[in-house]
Order: sequence, then structure tokens, then C-alpha cells
Amino acid sequence: MDSERQRIQDDLRGVVRGEVLCDDISCQLYATDASIYQMTPLGVVRPRTAADVIATVQYATEHDLAIHPRGSGSGVSGESLGNGLLLDFSCFMRRVTIDRDGATVTVQCGAVLAEVNAALAAYGRTYGPDPATRSITTMGSVLSTNASGSHYLRSGSARDTIESMRVVMADGNLLTLAKHHPDEPTPQGRLARGIVEIENQFHSLIAARKASPNSRSGYRFDGVILDDGHVDLAKFMVGTQGTLGIIVDAVVRTEPIPTHRGVALLFFRRLDSAARCARRALMHGLVACDLMDRRLLQIARETDSRFADLLPREAEAMLLVEIQGESLGDLYDRLAIIRQECAKGPDAAFAAVDTVRPSERDLYWALSRRVIPRLYRFKGSDAPQPFTEDIAVPPDRLPAALIDIQDTLQRNQATATVFAHAGHGQLHIRPFLNLAKPQDREKLNDLSNQIAEVVWKHGGEVSVEHAAGLSRSHLLPRQYGQLWQAMGQIKRLFDSVHRLNPGKLFGAVLQKPNENLRPLDKTIEVSRGNRTLIAAEKPVVEDSGIASKPLAQLEVFQIWPPGGSVAQVTRECNGCGRCRTHSSAERQCPMFRASHREEASPRAKANLLRGVLSGQLKVDNLAEDRAKEVADLCFNCHQCRVECPASVNIPKIVGELKAQYVATNGLPLSDLLLGRIDTIAAVASQIPWLANLLIRGRLSRWLADRLFGLSAARELPLIASETFMRYAAKRRWTKLNPHGGLKVAYFVDHFANYHDPDIGRALAEILQHNGIGLYVPSGQVASGMARISAGDIKGARRVARRNLRVLAEAVRQGYTIIATEPAAVLCLKHEYPNLMDDQDAHLVAENSFEACQFLWNLHQESRLSLDLNTLPTEIAYHQPCHLRVLDPDAAGPKLIGLIPKFEVQQIEAGCTGMAGTWGLQRKNYRNSLRVGWPLISAMRSAGNRTAATECSACKMQIEHGAGRKTLHPIKLFAYAYGRLPKLEKELDTKKVDTKKVSDTLK
Ligand SMILES: Cc1cc2nc3c(=O)[nH]c(=O)nc-3n(C[C@H](O)[C@H](O)[C@H](O)COP(=O)(O)OP(=O)(O)OC[C@H]3O[C@@H](n4cnc5c(N)ncnc54)[C@H](O)[C@@H]3O)c2cc1C
Ligand code: SF4
Ligand code: SF4
Repeated sequence: MDSERQRIQDDLRGVVRGEVLCDDISCQLYATDASIYQMTPLGVVRPRTAADVIATVQYATEHDLAIHPRGSGSGVSGESLGNGLLLDFSCFMRRVTIDRDGATVTVQCGAVLAEVNAALAAYGRTYGPDPATRSITTMGSVLSTNASGSHYLRSGSARDTIESMRVVMADGNLLTLAKHHPDEPTPQGRLARGIVEIENQFHSLIAARKASPNSRSGYRFDGVILDDGHVDLAKFMVGTQGTLGIIVDAVVRTEPIPTHRGVALLFFRRLDSAARCARRALMHGLVACDLMDRRLLQIARETDSRFADLLPREAEAMLLVEIQGESLGDLYDRLAIIRQECAKGPDAAFAAVDTVRPSERDLYWALSRRVIPRLYRFKGSDAPQPFTEDIAVPPDRLPAALIDIQDTLQRNQATATVFAHAGHGQLHIRPFLNLAKPQDREKLNDLSNQIAEVVWKHGGEVSVEHAAGLSRSHLLPRQYGQLWQAMGQIKRLFDSVHRLNPGKLFGAVLQKPNENLRPLDKTIEVSRGNRTLIAAEKPVVEDSGIASKPLAQLEVFQIWPPGGSVAQVTRECNGCGRCRTHSSAERQCPMFRASHREEASPRAKANLLRGVLSGQLKVDNLAEDRAKEVADLCFNCHQCRVECPASVNIPKIVGELKAQYVATNGLPLSDLLLGRIDTIAAVASQIPWLANLLIRGRLSRWLADRLFGLSAARELPLIASETFMRYAAKRRWTKLNPHGGLKVAYFVDHFANYHDPDIGRALAEILQHNGIGLYVPSGQVASGMARISAGDIKGARRVARRNLRVLAEAVRQGYTIIATEPAAVLCLKHEYPNLMDDQDAHLVAENSFEACQFLWNLHQESRLSLDLNTLPTEIAYHQPCHLRVLDPDAAGPKLIGLIPKFEVQQIEAGCTGMAGTWGLQRKNYRNSLRVGWPLISAMRSAGNRTAATECSACKMQIEHGAGRKTLHPIKLFAYAYGRLPKLEKELDTKKVDTKKVSDTLK
């Protein structure tokens, strides 16, 4: 950290109760958002209270620094980026208070919209404006960008919902803004007077602009000066994008959740036909009308097989329309009329479907909600870029404007995806560009200007829903014409020194859209061993020559395919912020959900490594404790890898970050110990009675806590009297079977070997019952997941080498590898190929299966015996994160669901928060419970006495937190075959007392 940043950090930490971060790494994590831009802040403040905001603004005033408010940083136009002090509200200021039976709600600016709606649902209410990013976006940003979404036709935009707000002004004063009279002898009165004067001065221009229905950006006067002379200052502030004041909290109006909703999908052979038909459909009281082009429909088909059946291949465009009503009969009638109407004339839809059923309706809506983020999945150099994605024309001009925009794209030899809120003429157009190429960076500028010309020609506007930010502010002087002067007067009235978010929305100098781009053409030299993976790119070599400094080099430790793959992986993260989601439909990212800090988000990891690879950070930064802190905020659950719209391999990035730290600093003692817990267990298994005495003993647990960082609050699993490997050897299962037929090799892993050999026995019984040969390779060791998660690449590689040797040999002998521990399967299928660049790793990966999945596959081929005893029991099943990655269809519950009279209740409430040995550590104990709390609570209230899961760590957490005896599905299945009678005792075990856990979290 340079001396200026150090001083700012020291000063601000003295006056702010929240967090202040000015180190290089933290600043790099906040240098980007979901846009194509990068600007590194001087420092980041995470305020806890309004007083913190005031103190920061006062400090910025004293030191002449700019301030940039930020929510989740998911803006697509760089609107929250800047070189000054960044205020991140999303961490602490998240309170939501429902007022007056839910008719209004008071929200702190960092509250996420989805959480506001979750709180309102109990009152039958919702917040109307529905930006597609509502599971991420904060209310401060919703108000600041005047957000709206597909239901604009019904709910309007944020501007239509505001009652009042508290705002810290550029001079550091905290004001409550509502409706104020210009005669008030208060600061609010002064602002009201100023607005009235400016309005008077530019009255005719403002009146002319008011006529435009698309006018939704910038400083807006319409509807602000009321008939009684009051000025609605709160309304005026909405949409001002952090340039006039910093919103602390606000009171906003809500609306009732609609009783019934009907949705129709209409398919067209031409894009402009769809746009024209939308006009006709609008006459039938639509509340939403979205248009998707052929390319988006294709992505939808690839995203979900259900869409492949739903969307006709010949469709060039699709309209999604929604109507709402109090009676289902009325909805049916109106949907039929819309379909009839749209089937007529030259622009007729050639096919249509509709529904009033909630599940189908949600599926139809998932089309646009899930497909737009998937645009990020485009691999290769050209990607759809957001910069001209927020334009609107009057809806009746949409068909003609679309044709002109396509001509403009063609002239520039560009293609683009098209998504439109056709009902209100709004267009999201993302041209495909490769921003690493200078000519495409130029093209970006040309397209931005030329498309704006088309929009203006059709009486439309740019920047109507998303912020103008760094992408579009440069177009506003031309858009506003003479009215631009009024914008300047407003800025002077509120923030004469341009303290707040300068360079956005209004400014004397507004950057071109191709300035401050993320540096995609810069990568330092990257090598592995003595092999160069990426030679330093030209701009980096030139920079190093100019500064006369040695060329930066990074040696990586995992297997990255030759070429630029390591840099490519980090660049694939476009910063969309989806991994900060609070949606209950997703699991990513358990760590972020518990922490709310940017560094806990998956994208922070990509930003950190990209910072180093692009030379923004030094390679040495990776050896700093701050880098370790960021990397440690990931416990390798792999949920982000499957849920990220761009499929960024964050766990691998984290593996590299951790390995870099360990390479310089070595392993901390607790990581070293936990990575070798199997060796300790091997010793303990020689004298299990003594080991168990120690495990149960208070003193030894206290000692383990103090010396090795193992939480004394955890009940460690006892050591079995005989390990599974010994049991298997006695039965000669450790010998290869030369005969043919179906045969499996069992990869046992730590827990089933040392703590619960009954899992292995149950598997052996099931296999025997089905006549499947079993081999338990004797040379195997535990999977080494704890080493991988700790960044102990060398240690993990040793383990992988040993296991791969025996398992690859088994595959060559005709065996299929199966494992009962999900983490072990993940190692075989995913982690080992990251560590070992050899054929064995791929051979084993391709031939390994999780045990339940293996058995379920057999069942589907009718090769599994179904002579199962009835088991009239209910069980609550949790799918472990690692299995969710390997087998999204969850074979385990389906398998035990075959048992007659056996009821499986699947609990989907996220991760248990245990993450292997992570949750065993004292430093992680509280966080582990916090992460797992939704699941623990759901398990507690599930009403079933017993739980089931495949993962041993999840089992420990469920038993510890929810007090439910937790069994492996394999044991239950063996029991149903009548082959594991002793399980009866476990099924009968009474609940465990969990008061201690509840107390911990209070
Ligand atoms: C795939 C995708 C789809 C999108 N769809 C929509 C959509 O349907 N509708 C829509 O409206 N937007 C949409 N957006 C744009 C974006 O998500 C929104 O602009 C969103 O509101 C940003 O929220 P955020 O919390 O991440 O804000 P940020 O990006 O952090 O900030 C947004 C702006 O708000 C300002 N701000 C934040 N907090 C405050 C505060 N307390 N006081 C003053 N100013 C503040 C910032 O300075 C910045 O100007 C989409 C973006 C993506 C990537
Ligand atoms: S990791 Fe994925 S979800 Fe997260 S910001 Fe990057 S691209 Fe978006
Ligand atoms: S692997 Fe899990 S903990 Fe790590 S960043 Fe991804 S979702 Fe978060």
C-alpha cells in the first residue's frame, strides 16, 4: 500500500465505525463491476451507519477526494467505478422494516431487493419494479438508477414508488427528502427553490421532453413540482446515479402480489413482425411484453432441455406477454383473444402457447431471466458487450428502429443479440466485440455513436433503465441539447465541487465509451516448471521497458492447458455479480451469503488473479496475508462453478491463489494437521479405545483446540474398532478378480475407512446382493481433499499420484471406480486432473462414479434387484454441494425412494457450511454454523427424526446443528435388502440436544 493510501486508511479508521480498506488487493477487487471498465479506487469504506457516511464525505471534502457510492457492483455501465473513495453499502446497511401492513417499507440502501420482497411476501405485498438482477441489486442502486424491469407496464420504475429518503449531501449534511415547499427556511427549502428556478428557466424545453414516454434517465423535472407548489425532492433524487447525494435509507411504496397471472409465448418468423405484433397485443391490457431474438432462443434451448421442446426451431423471434386479473376465467378469455389477435395479418405469430399455471408461468419467465445472463457463456474472443444495451424508442417506432439498428450493425460488420421490453420500446442490444483488439475498441466507440443516432432519429433516448455511467454519459449532452445547461445548474445546486460520482451523468469532461476499459490485451509471463504457458504480451513488455523494471512472471502450480487458459479463465468472469445472489433457488455462494463482503464473493477471486495476470497487482501480492484472507473465503464447494452464468472455474482459481501463498509462506499448522488427519487416524486406529477416550475427553479436546485450532465445540467422530480396509483384507476383497462381469473398485476415503466402516460394508452387501464383483485396492489412501482445499498442492499431488496408480490399473483391468464420499468422487473426477497432467488422471476421471449414482444407473438399465423390504419411515434428505456438482439429478434420494413405504423429503436449503474439515477449525466454527443455518433450521423443522446425506462432513453438521441422526443412503438401501440389521438401532436413535448450537449463534 502506498503512503497516501496508508494515510487515508489510518485517518478514516479513526472516524468510521465500519470497515476501511485501502490495501492494493481490496482496491483491485473494487476496480470493476459488470461493465467493461476498470477504475481503481483510492480506498473502500463499508459504512455501518449514516454517521459513517457523513464522516467519509467530510473527510473527502477536507482532502478533496471524489466519492462513489456502490451497491452490489452489478451495474453494466461502470456507474459505481472511480478513482476516489468507494462507499460499499451492501455489507452492513441492509435493514428492512415493514411499515403500515406492508403498504410501505423502509429500506436501508444496502438491502437487496430480493430480501425486501421476501420480507414483504408475508404481507401479500411486493416491490413493483422488477429488474432482472433483483436477487443481487441493492435498494440504494434501484433508486439511484431508477430501475425497472419487465413489468414496467404495470409497476413503473423506482421513481413511481418513492415516499421519502434520507440522503447525505455533498457537504456532509444528512437530509430527509420528501415533499418540500420552496419557502421552507431549511436546506431542503433551498434545494426546492433551486429546482423551481431552474424549471422556470428551462420550462418550455422541459415540457417538450416530458412528452417523451421513454425519458427516464438523468435529472428529471417531470412530476416533481406539484400543483400545491411543493417540490418532491425524493422523487427528484431517484435516477440521479449517486451524483447528487448518497442515499442512506428510503421509504418506498409496495403493491399487492397479483392474484392470478397468465402468460403467453408467441413465435414469429421475423423480428420486426414480433415488434409490430407487440403493438397490437398491448391493447389487451398487458403488464409485460418482452421480445427475444433467434440467438437468445437458441441459448435458451441449450440452457434447459424443457425449452428445446417449447421453442420451435423456425422461430426468428418470440414475444412473452403477461396479463393479470382477479379471476382465472377472465384470464383464459383474454389469453385466447390475444392469441387470436396475434395470429392475424402479415405479422402473424405462427405458433403460440399460454398458461395460467404458476409452475409453467415461472418456466416461461425463466426464459428471459436465465437466458440473458447466459450471454456471458459465449466462449471465444468475440463476446456480447454491454455499452449500447440500454436504449428506447416510442413503442410504435420499435419495428423501424430495429431494422435501422440492424443496418447499422451490418455496416460496421458486427452482429448483436437483441432483447426488448417491447411494450415500452426498450432495447437491450449487445454487439459481439473482442475488446482485446484495438480495431474492436474503436468499433465500440463508432457503434455507440451510430446506434444513438438511430435511436434519436426515431424519437428515442439512450440510458433509460440502466445507468449512463462510463458507457453512455458522453451521449447525454447531445441528447439533452440546450437542456444540458439545466443539468449543469442542478449539479451546481447539489454538488458544486463534483464530489459525488464525478464523470457520470453530468460533467464538463465525459469519457468516451472506449476509455478506461479492462485491460484485456495485457498478460504478464506465466510459466509452469520450466515451460512458458503465456509469453508476456506486448503492452506489458513495453511498460516494463519504459519503467526499466524486470518483466513480471508468475509460476503456476496447477495444470493449466498450454496457451492463455489461465488468463482466459479469469477474463471469463465479467463481474455480473450473479455469484452474490440471495436467491433461494441457487446455492452459490455459501461463503458470500454469510459474510456479505465483496472479498467473499466468487468474482473477487477472479478479480484478484486477473489483477496479477494483467500486471495491476504485483506477483508478490499473492504472498500477502490479505491474499490468503481472500482465498480462504472459499471452502471449495464448487457451487459457483456450476451456477455462474459464464461457467467460470472459480474453485480452480482459488486453488491457484492458495498454492501461491503456500509456496512462499508454507502451510499453517492447522492446515498441515488437517491435511494429514488420515495419518493421525491411522495411528489412532491401532489403539481405538485410547483414541476414543481422548476424542471424548474434555482436556484433550481443549488441547486440540489450543494447539491445533480444532474447535472444542465439535464432537469429532469416534475411531472404529476395525478399519474398513482391514475388514476388506480379511475378506480378500483387496485382491484383483481376473474374471469378467460387472465389477467395481471401491475408493474408500477417510470417513468410511476409519470412522464408519458400515458404509463400506453396506456397499459390499448391496454389490453382493446384485452379483457385482468388489475390489478394494489396498494401495489407496484418503482422497486428499483437505490438502487441496488448503492449497497444499505438493501434498495433494503425492496423494493423487498414489491413488491414481492403483485406480488406473483397476480401470485397465475392467473395473468401474465407485466412492461413497462425494468429496472423494470430486477429487477423482475433477481435482486430480487439475493436479496431474497424465493419462491416468483422465482415465480414472472418466470411469469414476458416486455409489448411489452408479446403482441408480443400474436400476435404469433394469439391472438392480428390487427385492427390498418395506421401511415405513420418513427421512429428510440433504444433497451435499459436491454431489450437486457431480450429479444435479440427485441419484441418492431416488435410489432410497425405491424402498417400499419409505418417504424421502428433500430439503433444499443450501450448504451445510461444513465443507470437509473447514468447519472443524476453531476459527471457522461460528461461520460454519452461520453458513449452514438455513439448512439446519429447515432440518429442525422438517418433522422427521432421521436425516440422510452422502457426505460425512454434512452428516456431522446436521447431527451437531439439527440434532438429527444422519445416515448414508447406501446404508439405508442395504438395510432394505435385509443385509444390515444393526441399522435398526441407528434409525431409532433419539434426537440430540442442540441448545448449545443455538446459543452460539445468538
Ligand atoms: C444481466 C443483467 C441484467 C440487468 N437487468 C436489469 C433490469 O432488468 N433492470 C434494471 O433496472 N437494471 C438491470 N441491470 C443493471 C443493474 O443490475 C442495475 O443497474 C442494478 O440496479 C445495479 O445494482 P447494484 O446494487 O449492483 O448497483 P451498483 O452497480 O453498485 O450501483 C449502481 C448505481 O447506483 C449508485 N448507488 C448505489 N448505492 C447508492 C446509494 N446508497 N446512494 C446513491 N447512489 C447509489 C451507484 O453509484 C451507481 O451509480 C442488469 C444488469 C445485468 C448484468
Ligand atoms: S464468477 Fe461468474 S457469476 Fe460471479 S461475477 Fe464472475 S461471471 Fe458473474
Ligand atoms: S467454491 Fe463455494 S465457497 Fe468457493 S467461491 Fe465458489 S461458491 Fe463460494
